[in-house]
Amino acid sequence: MPQIPDASNERPTIVIGAGLAGLTCAFELADQGKPVLVLEAAPYVGGRTANWNEHGMEVESGFHKFIGYYTLLPELLERAGIDLNEMLFWEKSMETRHPEADEPGVFGLDVVRAPLKTALGALGNNKYLTPADKASLIPFFTAGFKDYLANPEELDEIPLKTYAERHHVTEQALERILEPLSSGIFFLPPEQYSSYAFFGLFAPGIPRLHKMRIGAFSGGMTDVMCRPLADAIERLGGTVRTSAPVRGLIVEDGAVTGVELESGERLLGANVVVAANIRRSQKLLAEHFRDVSWFAPFFELDAMPHVTAQFELPEPLLPQDRTTFGPGTQLGSFGEQSRTTFRGKSGRTSIILVDPDALIDLPEEEVWRRTVEGLKAIGLDGVDRVTDYRIVRGDENFYRLAVGSEKKRPKQVTPIPGLFLAGDYTKQPFLATMEGAVISGQRAARGILKA
Ligand SMILES: Cc1cc2nc3c(=O)[nH]c(=O)nc-3n(C[C@H](O)[C@H](O)[C@H](O)COP(=O)(O)OP(=O)(O)OC[C@H]3O[C@@H](n4cnc5c(N)ncnc54)[C@H](O)[C@@H]3O)c2cc1C
Repeated sequence: MPQIPDASNERPTIVIGAGLAGLTCAFELADQGKPVLVLEAAPYVGGRTANWNEHGMEVESGFHKFIGYYTLLPELLERAGIDLNEMLFWEKSMETRHPEADEPGVFGLDVVRAPLKTALGALGNNKYLTPADKASLIPFFTAGFKDYLANPEELDEIPLKTYAERHHVTEQALERILEPLSSGIFFLPPEQYSSYAFFGLFAPGIPRLHKMRIGAFSGGMTDVMCRPLADAIERLGGTVRTSAPVRGLIVEDGAVTGVELESGERLLGANVVVAANIRRSQKLLAEHFRDVSWFAPFFELDAMPHVTAQFELPEPLLPQDRTTFGPGTQLGSFGEQSRTTFRGKSGRTSIILVDPDALIDLPEEEVWRRTVEGLKAIGLDGVDRVTDYRIVRGDENFYRLAVGSEKKRPKQVTPIPGLFLAGDYTKQPFLATMEGAVISGQRAARGILKA
């Protein structure tokens, strides 16, 4: 009689890392009835979309926004039983504050639900941006989206500042609009920032302009998104282990067959998905595959740090919880969160700082001093009443969104039997975003199901 495969005896797919990419891959496999084991080094799931208690203060990996034109992330979360209306607050506008501007720029975000405000934002704000500044952006964006489709490799070799100069963007438009939309999101200054990354972030939104809105999380991201996703994996029969750092891969006869934990425990799997952050993934792979040419470009892919400041006050720093940019200062994007993500706090702000290469090794007190200086420069003197702050940073999580990175990003399916990759740094169109992490996890899962 033919043997019916028994899933409980089948070796699991082992997923290293419980960030969104690893959790997505595990969810897709468990959803197809495949046994799966996720191993996460930290004591909590979520990776760069995590929140935790840092020496007595609730913190997050950094200020995150859910973009309305994401499709695969919301679909996945809904399939995992997570109600997006409970998980998100939709913002109606965003703000840019420049030290030398007479007034902040306020831009509507919701073409469908608040069309007038959105149109007025684009056409108005004349004290923030002159009509000549705005006009200079039109040929720049037109050419950029065209090049994004027609010449992506070339576009990835041109720094954003050079591309803007080539298309005669005024200095003020560069500093007040392009800087927040680049450095404010992916930290790097425009002279390093890849033009491909710049247009690539917005291009998917063009056919979905009606979906162009921004969501703030209604709680810490582990609590409202990643832990519920891990619970869904477990309901489907998978296992998610935290505080289980992987030391190395087990490779036999050229195939990956399992992992060894830092504790010395050895686990065998049908496949292994490396879904750790970029630097950790490079180290795990280089130990065995340094000389395999397929991996060579990936080993050259550079990482970049991120640095954030998070603090509490007796009252809100800002009148609304909405995405704010601080061009012309060290403040990238930031927002008040006491009415959204950290309800229950009387005042709570989270800031992503720009030029993290210059900040990553500085003492906390110096990073904080620069943060306060930036806030005061844009009129937010309320920072003097801060009761507690943390500087939360990481130096090996992001692939560098600088020129020349695109051609080094590896695909999810590798030539090594039993080995798959997932993570926002792997090749997918959504750059270093939550949607990109989900796409990578789904591609890895598809590769395994096809193998
Ligand atoms: C400050 C900041 C702001 C951001 N803002 C946004 C935003 O507004 N919108 C957006 O869409 N995206 C944003 N992102 C990006 C988004 O968070 C990432 O793209 C996404 O979370 C990446 O998921 P990942 O699974 O690829 O990687 P990660 O989340 O980095 O997951 C990797 C996991 O692997 C684990 N790991 C590493 N080594 C090992 C090991 N040896 N053994 C076991 N586990 C290991 C790590 O602990 C981690 O949990 C932001 C990120 C940061 C840091």
